[in-house]
Amino acid sequence: MLIISVKPSCSIETMKISSLPHGKTRKDAEERRRIVENAAGFTPEHLYRHSFEPEIASHNIENFIGVTQIPLGIAGPLKVRGKKARGSFFVPLATTEGALVATINRGCSVITEAGGAYARVMKDEMTRAPVFRTEGLEHGLRISRWINDNFHLLAKETGKVTRHGKIISAVPYICGRTMFIRLSFETGDAMGMNIATFASQKICELIERETGAVTISVSGNMCTDKKPSAINYILGRGKTVIAEATIPEVLVKQRLHSSPAEIAETALRKNLIGSAMALSMGYNSHFANMAAALFIATGQDAAQVVEASMGISTAETTDRGLYVSVRIPALELGTVGGGTALPSQSEALKLMGCSGTGKSVKFAEIAASTILAGELSTMAAQVKGELALAHMKLAR
Ligand code: NAP
Repeated sequence: MLIISVKPSCSIETMKISSLPHGKTRKDAEERRRIVENAAGFTPEHLYRHSFEPEIASHNIENFIGVTQIPLGIAGPLKVRGKKARGSFFVPLATTEGALVATINRGCSVITEAGGAYARVMKDEMTRAPVFRTEGLEHGLRISRWINDNFHLLAKETGKVTRHGKIISAVPYICGRTMFIRLSFETGDAMGMNIATFASQKICELIERETGAVTISVSGNMCTDKKPSAINYILGRGKTVIAEATIPEVLVKQRLHSSPAEIAETALRKNLIGSAMALSMGYNSHFANMAAALFIATGQDAAQVVEASMGISTAETTDRGLYVSVRIPALELGTVGGGTALPSQSEALKLMGCSGTGKSVKFAEIAASTILAGELSTMAAQVKGELALAHMKLAR
């Protein structure tokens, strides 16, 4: 037997983790780097190359030592006929999956040539569902009545912690001595998870004081954040967005080397029947791919790709050609807050004219249209057995 042992210059076991400096300055970062280098036995080169001072990211990361560079590609132009997004856009996509940008790009050019994607935000609210312990059903019903009669007090508590956050509804769900109150908020142009959580915390304290319910957690998992869930699928969370396009048959043949009937059949048997067979919540080809690349490029919370991966992709033949659509019930994104102000991420948003206040609906419409482009192109690739071929050609 061959035993290989590696002896770094300073073993992690003997190093006190508490000795890591927690400051936010360049000097603190350099101190941490020295500790890490010592433990790893080499000096990283690429991790340390960045164009901004560590303080800029101080609300986005702790124990900063550097950056991970993810290749950024562009798909487009993509013509969008949204309520706010009107025109053609280049979409920045950060990924390490070869062939992904190429496939989205093909979808963008076909949709654009066909007149563009029509997109609308149907619903826009962020949720938090605190969980309480009660004395039982009778107590739970009393709490529900109190919330109904005193909704204005919930709004008042919300106003204490946020200017843009406004409470829309508070829906109680009782399960024995456990009670959830699913709180929904408007959150302006922010994705809204901090806004909703801070407001929910104040509301929990109020409910405890007034009703005797005991808060177990401000987040009771009926929210539902960063986990696939039927509640988000049905009621939506963040932005519920729909995008559609009709592609003339001649374009489907010339550009996608396929026919409307073949793509419609693939969508039916793969996206719908296949997903039903697997009891998957993603009745689509690969929403998660477009969402992840766009989220990472623009400073969204990447873990919320879980929610963005859920939704339905349809394809039907019509007398005008191939009709395709996507319904994304829980697209949680923003153009303010989170990682959107970081230097690269805010530049990526600016490429689409989507940085800052008043841009989140426009961004959601572009995002849904990009997801539609990726779906269309991938469905066509599968009809022609091009999926493996494209990855072999472009990703190997
Ligand atoms: P945020 O960065 O925490 O808050 C947005 C800030 O922007 C608020 O201070 C808000 O002020 C201000 N603002 C200025 N103009 C605005 C506008 N037009 N619309 C909305 N807000 C505006 O962002 P967030 O979206 O609420 O939270 C996102 C962050 O939460 C991400 O970093 C995400 O990773 C993290 N997150 C938190 C939790 C949690 O449980 N707390 C869970 C998941 C993710 P006002 O509040 O005064 O309006």
